[in-house]
Amino acid sequence: MTATVSLSHRFADLLPEMAVPVRAADAPDPRLVVLDEAVAADLGLDAGWLRSDEGLGLLTGTRVPDGARPVAQAYAGHQFGGFARLGDGRALLLGELRDRDGRLRDLHLKGSGRTPFARGGDGLAALGPMLREVVISESMHALGIPTTRALAVVVTGRAVQREQPLPGAVLARVASSHLRVGSVQFARATDDRGLLERVVALAIERHHPEAEGALGLYRAVIAAQADLIARWMLVGFVHGVMNTDNMTLSGETIDYGPCAFLDAYDPATVFSSIDHDGRYAYRNQPGIAMWNLARLGEALLPLLADDEPTAIERATEALHGFGPRYEAALAAGHRAKLGLAHAPSADVDPLVAEVLGLMEAARVDHTRFWRDLAEAARGDAEAVRGVVLDLPALDAWLDRWRALGPDAAAMDAVNPLHIPRNHLVDEALRAAETDANLEPLHRLLEAVRSPYVAVPGLEAYAAAAPDAGPFVTYCGT
Ligand code: AMP
Ligand code: MG
Repeated sequence: MTATVSLSHRFADLLPEMAVPVRAADAPDPRLVVLDEAVAADLGLDAGWLRSDEGLGLLTGTRVPDGARPVAQAYAGHQFGGFARLGDGRALLLGELRDRDGRLRDLHLKGSGRTPFARGGDGLAALGPMLREVVISESMHALGIPTTRALAVVVTGRAVQREQPLPGAVLARVASSHLRVGSVQFARATDDRGLLERVVALAIERHHPEAEGALGLYRAVIAAQADLIARWMLVGFVHGVMNTDNMTLSGETIDYGPCAFLDAYDPATVFSSIDHDGRYAYRNQPGIAMWNLARLGEALLPLLADDEPTAIERATEALHGFGPRYEAALAAGHRAKLGLAHAPSADVDPLVAEVLGLMEAARVDHTRFWRDLAEAARGDAEAVRGVVLDLPALDAWLDRWRALGPDAAAMDAVNPLHIPRNHLVDEALRAAETDANLEPLHRLLEAVRSPYVAVPGLEAYAAAAPDAGPFVTYCGT
């Protein structure tokens, strides 16, 4: 571990057309709110140093290490279906550094001030939404789901004006890169084939080294996203803003805005207050992912073949791989959730469809239900009868399921006990933002870091959500 941080600037070197040098806004009174020491250690950064004035300077972008070249990244994106040229409006890429495993990772700040892409925005972030990203990304990581990581959140000492003044904060985020579907779209929109080729080369180098050429990259991104979305669906995660600029080429979950986990199992669930049509509802996520990947294919067309009809044919053929890959990952995940990974899929798959129907009809708590079902596998059928009230179909279903010999211990290893429950996230963020009370946040982090195993004293974090009706996450920035 070292107190000197050596950042490379490969993105800025390779893609200068997509890298605008920027400086962070000053932070008059920086104070560390969260530091993930495990992430720091992964990056070879000394936690003690990160807490020092110099460290806080790095984490707010106000002291740039020698040789670093902070940039705002340009990208494009389909936002709720409409194409726009965008870029980091309130974020900057400090640079890349090697983690303990020798992988190059982006160190990126969010809420660090206006950039040329800020449009009407103030370039700032409020503490609450940055802490939401910390909690949810930490949970995703603990669940084994590919995600960007949160290194730290620092309050700047400057208020941010939203509906009311809120404490301003900067999130330091780590990603295997910030290359997005929208990065490729940006390059394509410039009509500069060389730039498109360089974006593809960088994405292959950083994420899919086995991929051959643009078509190989396209196939690899499709596979990574199919696997990722299946993981989201299995834990009830709703991203909330699946615009193409919020979809990575690496297959990591990125940009935690109005995202949340399902309380009641209702596939039509939408959490974002601006998603009026439910475009990004839970059940639409695989379809939207495929739509986004079709936009990626379009952007890559000039590199897929010399003539357009052949390029389209290749892109279409690759995109058709999404459905089967996603369905296979989802079905395997469901078999594991039912404790029947060992049973023939022809026997199990119909049971999955039926139990999802029962869950929806009874609006059971999505997370709790699977754990209760493990208790039913151990002989306590009341565990689920209590939640799936009076559904006679359930008993018949339970008999057929039990006949296949579900493995309760295996169920407990894949069905989380702790996810960031909406009411608890709300409570934690409110306490931090309004009372500077970090106790509930730290308890919540402790719970989500142990997704599968009960934590003494944190029983409330494993309980079903109170039936509070539809939950709306406001797109707080
Ligand atoms: P998002 O939906 O959070 O991915 O953001 C979409 C775009 O809006 C990105 O280009 C962001 O950088 C930009 N943006 C979001 N909030 C702000 C803000 N407060 N100031 C400037 N730009 C912002
Ligand atoms: Mg974004």
